[in-house]
Amino acid sequence: MKLTEMKQILTAGQIHLTKSLGQNFLHDHNQLGRIVDAAQVQDNDQVLEIGPGLGPLTKFLLDAGAKVFAIEKDRRLYEFLREHLGDNPKLRLLHADALKHLREQPTDWSEWKLVANLPYSVASTVLVELAKSQSCPSRLVATLQIEVAQRLMASAAHGDYGILTLLMQVRYEAGEWFKIPASCFFPVPDVDSACVVFVRRKTPLLGRSQSLIFEKIVKRGFSQRRKMLMKLLKQDWPAEVLERVFQELGLSPTIRAERVTLEQFVQLTQALDS
Ligand code: SAM
Repeated sequence: MKLTEMKQILTAGQIHLTKSLGQNFLHDHNQLGRIVDAAQVQDNDQVLEIGPGLGPLTKFLLDAGAKVFAIEKDRRLYEFLREHLGDNPKLRLLHADALKHLREQPTDWSEWKLVANLPYSVASTVLVELAKSQSCPSRLVATLQIEVAQRLMASAAHGDYGILTLLMQVRYEAGEWFKIPASCFFPVPDVDSACVVFVRRKTPLLGRSQSLIFEKIVKRGFSQRRKMLMKLLKQDWPAEVLERVFQELGLSPTIRAERVTLEQFVQLTQALDS
């Protein structure tokens, strides 16, 4: 879908775009092709697309042979898609708030890929929601604000490293990523975007119940970035247990969460779980 066509559709349908729904549509065919390539779509792959908008990415995915389940919150766009792509048997369209749907309809996503140009307002929440689900998708290919992409891919001791990084990377390994200039979207957003690829870990680092403890440790640890991790964890665990575990793991009692690696958070979880 070229930019002129996009503008014509919006004008003809009297569709005024809504900033709060993150409606910046991707019209650059080169970037759409790169996103679908990054998703490594095979014939009949099951793809979840959140926020299809006017469907430019949906079309690329269908052309690559994917079966697409697309969830769109804006009724006007949903109706447009139903009219223009609705007779494609490989497309299932749903008019819903995707975040609400993910939370209220637990689904086995393990045989699915997420490929989406995510609305800014819910991008990180949607990714964390999927990453936390028991059977999370095998691959996430998400286009989002470059600042969020940097937080998702950060490593310890970097300013972007935090809760988002850890909740994502405990389930996924960060893969390739590329920048998408603001000029590739309509309307042109204030910030650049990036497409990031996350590949589900072959072997989970933690079991189900340990994942909840991991989340509790990480959230507590980053609740006050300048404070020492051990001091913060004393709100949840006895001091003597923490002192012993930190010593066994070779962690300084004065270390702050931002210096603790993913592997160390995993070890800490396992030790505090036993
Ligand atoms: N995929 C299209 C594209 O690449 O041009 C549109 C992407 S646009 C960044 C985000 C889309 O998500 C919009 O169509 C918007 O209406 C939709 N959206 C916003 N919040 C949503 C939500 N909570 N659930 C589902 N769709 C949502």
